[in-house]
Amino acid sequence: MKYEPVIGLEVHAQLLTESKIFCRCGTAFGAPQNSQVCPICLGMPGVLPVLNRQAVAFAIRMGLATNCRIAAHSIFARKNYFYPDLPKGYQISQYEEPLCENGWVEIEMEGGALKRIGLTRIHLEEDAGKSVHAEEYVAGNETLIDVNRCGTPLIEIVSEPDIRSPREAYLYLNRLRQLVRYLGICDGNMEEGSLRCDANISIRPIGEEKFGVKTELKNMNSFRNVEKAIEFEINRQTQLLEAGGRVVQQTMLWDANDGKVLPMRSKEEAHDYRYFPEPDLVPLRIDEKWREEIQASLPELPWARRHRFIEHYGLPKYDAEVLTEEQAVAEFFDATARLVKDAKLTSNWVMGEVLRVLKEQKIDITQFAIKPAAFAELLNLMAAGTISAKIAKEIFEAMLTGGKSAKTIVAEKGLVQVSDTGVIEKAVDAIIAAHPQEVARYRNGEEKVFGFLVGQLMKATQGKANPKVANEVLRSKLAN
Ligand SMILES: [Zn+2]
Repeated sequence: MKYEPVIGLEVHAQLLTESKIFCRCGTAFGAPQNSQVCPICLGMPGVLPVLNRQAVAFAIRMGLATNCRIAAHSIFARKNYFYPDLPKGYQISQYEEPLCENGWVEIEMEGGALKRIGLTRIHLEEDAGKSVHAEEYVAGNETLIDVNRCGTPLIEIVSEPDIRSPREAYLYLNRLRQLVRYLGICDGNMEEGSLRCDANISIRPIGEEKFGVKTELKNMNSFRNVEKAIEFEINRQTQLLEAGGRVVQQTMLWDANDGKVLPMRSKEEAHDYRYFPEPDLVPLRIDEKWREEIQASLPELPWARRHRFIEHYGLPKYDAEVLTEEQAVAEFFDATARLVKDAKLTSNWVMGEVLRVLKEQKIDITQFAIKPAAFAELLNLMAAGTISAKIAKEIFEAMLTGGKSAKTIVAEKGLVQVSDTGVIEKAVDAIIAAHPQEVARYRNGEEKVFGFLVGQLMKATQGKANPKVANEVLRSKLAN
């Protein structure tokens, strides 16, 4: 029997607010342990939470960007459970009446077809603290608790069970990450835990409508792990069923070191949490005016931008894809391309030289030494034929460290490309005179010698000869 996987993802994204969701404590990652806490996020008796307006605005941004309906009225709920990193004994979340519902995002499948993944809901909640099992702090098997993260605002994005393969799960998660970064609401860093992903996985015989028994898979803390862990779990379930066994509903942990999943606990049901409406918070009302303001403030979304790059600049799809992957890179390209006539030249240079330097220097494009206007000046010199591509690369390197403009460097070093036919003819005559054997071989039909002669010519002119003119002159002289 052939089985198909049915996968739904629950993604938690930490919101980039300066303070926590219900108190004024800071949210900076890496602060000294237990330094960002107060009686409210520790759940001391008698304290009252106050909702962070910015966290709500961020959640609405995400809801609008994913085609959700934004509820005019939503409520917070207490999710009760005991865990050492949750001093309150409950988490404030949303259960019935979440803030955003019924949305979708599209992923692009191999071959370019789009597939829509439904979003059941996006709701707001607070994060719990962290258990630290590090030997660097304590001896033996002790566990330490860092409660800094208690009360950090999260959105939980719950997908419909629309995902059918580990690859689709990867693409979907990638799309969400790109989106939260574009929206400026989360840094999307899976390794630091600001984006976390759990998966609900079941399999069913192909053609069957009913869902199989699902397991929940946790602890997949990188993109690569998400794909690998889901793959592993699908295989595990398939082998179980094929051997005549059955899948037990439970929570599984992905062990990245061993590359396998381990059962953690039997899966709890929603009623185990004894959800009830949070008595310390009034219902959340979103008026239409605020929602519209947020809608108007949304940036151009990645897919719209990609489409524009193809339509407006005439870029190949591949280029548009690479350039819109990160919002800041897309902005840089856009700002440069507006000033340069040749969009494809700009694209080649951003994808090639600029991205290479970012990678080498391990920096963000916002820290890149050359700003769009200065970069455009360099590209325009090349587009106009004033400098050759080879010289442009030299100037580019000089601009990275010197802070001088391309025009200044060209003037200072006398790098202007030589297109004067008379000058080039002279140089060609000298090359022909100096290499009689090679010239003879070329005239006997050895085409590859031409490249050697061009190389000699460029060397003689310090790379300044206009390659097009140089080629033409050399060809015609050799033909005589
Ligand atoms: Zn606090």
